[in-house]
Amino acid sequence: MSHSPAGGESRRIPVYPIIIAVILGVLVGHFFPHFGVKVKYAGLVFLNLLFVMVIPLIITSMIMGINGLGDIRHVGSIGLKTVGIYLITTFLATSTGLLLGVIANPGKGMVREANEFPEASYSIVQTPLSGGSILSFNGANLLLPSKINPQSQIVELTDQGAFGLIDPDSRIGKKEIPILKWQDETGKKVEPKLNGTGFRIKANPKKLTAGDILNSFVPRNIIRAMAEENVFPLILFSLAFGGILSTLGLAGKPLLDVINAVNITIIKAVELLMLVAPIGIFGLVAGSIADAELSTAGGFVAEFFRVARYGGAVMGGLLVHAWVSLALILWLVSRRNPFTFARNMIPQTLTAFSTSSSMATLPVSITLAVEKNKISERIANFVLPIGATVNMDGTALYQVVAAMFIAQSYGITLSLSQMLILVLTATIGSIGAAGIPSAGLITLVIVLRSVGLPVEGIGLILSIDWLLDRFRTAVNVWGDVVVASVIDRFEEGYEAEHPVRADMSEAVS
Ligand code: ASP
Repeated sequence: MSHSPAGGESRRIPVYPIIIAVILGVLVGHFFPHFGVKVKYAGLVFLNLLFVMVIPLIITSMIMGINGLGDIRHVGSIGLKTVGIYLITTFLATSTGLLLGVIANPGKGMVREANEFPEASYSIVQTPLSGGSILSFNGANLLLPSKINPQSQIVELTDQGAFGLIDPDSRIGKKEIPILKWQDETGKKVEPKLNGTGFRIKANPKKLTAGDILNSFVPRNIIRAMAEENVFPLILFSLAFGGILSTLGLAGKPLLDVINAVNITIIKAVELLMLVAPIGIFGLVAGSIADAELSTAGGFVAEFFRVARYGGAVMGGLLVHAWVSLALILWLVSRRNPFTFARNMIPQTLTAFSTSSSMATLPVSITLAVEKNKISERIANFVLPIGATVNMDGTALYQVVAAMFIAQSYGITLSLSQMLILVLTATIGSIGAAGIPSAGLITLVIVLRSVGLPVEGIGLILSIDWLLDRFRTAVNVWGDVVVASVIDRFEEGYEAEHPVRADMSEAVS
């Protein structure tokens, strides 16, 4: 069987142009930010094109993966191994994070920005066109926090107990916050008085009900799960569907052929898309650096230095995890040369870096793992989609360091048992985070809550989170492919004894 999922010669994925695109993106975003925000759109088109492939790819890869693995009991044992090894690497990551949090003491000497403005007077102006309103503040020395995140923060008018959801699509000014709608504590819409005194910016953790959690495992409507890019239920659905299909023999073959053809078509499309990846990656990197330059007082570099100790601790931890823990696993367990293996995955790393999304990177991950690193197609098809959803070493490590940083900034000393809880909840927080930009920032709330740390502390790390997100996503996908290589090695014997069924290899080659 050919290792190329497309069944033919593998196309050259441009490595050097992608590296140059990242460097150019950084330079253009920094020196010409107004131009940078314009080229962002080229990046967004690239991102959409990647995302459009993700849902059909996950479903078809999982179904093909299971059918390729053969006996359903064998699928079960590989599944257990996969999840087990994913948990081990995540545990290594959180331990590294903990160690760095203790040694680097990133929160030392940190000056917190004010999030509470009890004396500030405000006024609200309705904006009939958008259906929302603008909250403006008076007072010469009022300075809003340098970065407010509409996804995870909310404005509270303390004198009237109204909460404003921030409009994510409008720009937040120095003294103005665009508000989507006002609500009370229970979430009911309210019309606040138009003038008053006192407000604060606070965290807006999503309240999860038992029903939400259930729905996130067992989809009620598979089309809706696809439309909402709700990946976890799709994986479970594909596992069940693929498992049943594998027991049907000849009766299931026509459908399997169709699914296989869809799978091959998508991989082919990814190869074609990668030819224009440098343009998209350039746009994404230039756009986000430019955004950071324009929205942070004093420019991004100044802002970065304010939290450099924290940023440095996260990046240092990621480096150690990727190049000590995971590289050792590659070398000792998978018996692979980490440098060659990593060089083959460079486009994966840079796609993850520029998209901040494990999910968007999945098509590239599968293609390179199979074509360049010769991981068996059925293993890659099975292990990588699961990894992109549940295995996030970088995110887990970052959550531990972030929590320790926030604790240290608030002068809170964590006990040993609190640190252990931190390691545990960061593992859960990373599993729960979707493979999309900033997802780890949202599940960080669970981590902070578990040890009683102030959720408002998230405000301290927002300004550089978009950058750390890129680095942690790159490590997330690196972890996935390393584990895939481990499973591949464990399964070598089985693969030799159970060659791919003739009907499947016909379809593939
Ligand atoms: N962006 C990350 C990912 O897709 C998740 C995170 O926010 O940490 O892997």
